[in-house]
Amino acid sequence: MRIYVGGLIHETNAFSPVPTRLADYGDHCGSYEDLCAAAAASGVEMYRGRCARAAPSAPTVRADYETLRNSLVSEIVAQGPFDCILLSLHGAQVAEGYPDCEGDVVAAVRGACGNDVTIGVMLDLHAAIGLRLLEQANLVCVIKEYPHTDFPETAAQLVDLALRQRRGQISPVTAFVPIPVFSLWHTPLPPSKTLVDDARALESESSVLHISLVHGFPWSDVADAGAAVLVITDGDPEGAVRHARQFAHRLWKIRDADLGHYQSIEECLDQVPLSHSGPLVIADAGDNPGAGTGSDATWILHEVVARGLQNVALALFHDPEALARVVEGGVGATVRLSLGGHSTELAGAPLVGDFTVTCINPTARIDAMPGYEPIAVGTLAAVRYGGVQIVLGDYREQVFGPRVFREVGIDPLTTSVLVVKSAQHFYNAFASFASTILYCDSPCSRTVDFARLPFSNRRSPMWPLEECGIGDIPAPVLIGVR
Ligand SMILES: [Zn+2]
Repeated sequence: MRIYVGGLIHETNAFSPVPTRLADYGDHCGSYEDLCAAAAASGVEMYRGRCARAAPSAPTVRADYETLRNSLVSEIVAQGPFDCILLSLHGAQVAEGYPDCEGDVVAAVRGACGNDVTIGVMLDLHAAIGLRLLEQANLVCVIKEYPHTDFPETAAQLVDLALRQRRGQISPVTAFVPIPVFSLWHTPLPPSKTLVDDARALESESSVLHISLVHGFPWSDVADAGAAVLVITDGDPEGAVRHARQFAHRLWKIRDADLGHYQSIEECLDQVPLSHSGPLVIADAGDNPGAGTGSDATWILHEVVARGLQNVALALFHDPEALARVVEGGVGATVRLSLGGHSTELAGAPLVGDFTVTCINPTARIDAMPGYEPIAVGTLAAVRYGGVQIVLGDYREQVFGPRVFREVGIDPLTTSVLVVKSAQHFYNAFASFASTILYCDSPCSRTVDFARLPFSNRRSPMWPLEECGIGDIPAPVLIGVR
């Protein structure tokens, strides 16, 4: 028995100002490493294949995507034959001319390796899942947690299922229900936590092998974008359909549970004086580079300055030009900056003025996703403008934890307001000391005010953009019944 593990990972935001080319793909990816570790732990011979991952951004240039896909397939063919091919993909990857990269990649692998090989795919829950992927892969397992803390667990499940399927011990049948909902759920807390817990309980008790509660990724702007449910059972199509329908209806019922937490900039900042025990944390979710934004939106910054708020810190602004001027000026200098607002009109206007340089750290490291090593981000700097400190760098990454502040001499515990460019992955690291956590929907390229976005390819009806009801959820589609 031989297993191949590989990866091709990109979360694509059709509204992102950040282009995506071959050179933007590196070889480091935590979910791929988790899949390798799970495969190695199985004791079966594993070939550690290639992994290419780019940070979230705009659709990949067509020829560059084709190069990545073809390299993966060529390697599998050259190093094969394999019994199982396990791939860590994202689920919301789009390239020019390829609205469903995952379906395309797996179809290419299937075409090259034939119907006999077992293909298993692990996906992020911010996925746009289409039928092509489900028909070409034997097993598709999506993580359940947002923040994404369960890649290792999901990888272990996928490896186990693929090996059991290969050995003839199980006969996976998948029921798929796309749900006409653009939303997102924060799984550390009910009500979505309850669904996740119930799904896990079913996986451990019944003929259910795996349940995927797919949040979707509206910003990919493809026909498959939207929430979905996948239920894999062991040779039990009726059970798969029943559970898939039930979970789809339950997700529908809580469609606005967490979307409803989003507030306007004004509503968030109105709560600043109310905060006492620990900092108020505001997520600038509309400019979360983890979903492909430019990470230089100034909407909240302008409002903070206009209100004269004191002891506020914001991170992490991606502004290489401003950083260069700051480094040139040095610590203690006053430098004239046009800060932020350069990537797109959706990022707002630059904040132009004189800033005091308070810290420059040329070897900064910031927190990564929980469970992963800190990320080396090169030079980070902090500048002061009135009562506000701004952390800036030339590395575009979301805020996963408070280290980004400490690295430039800002104590997050004694700061009144922390504004972090992230949508949800910051949550666990800040929840222990924040007095309150607020989700702010600034009008940037990851806004949840979907009516603001110029969609071209999404399907309809889609809640909340159109009126729709539970009757608009289609019947489950069965895959794998031959
Ligand atoms: Zn995600």
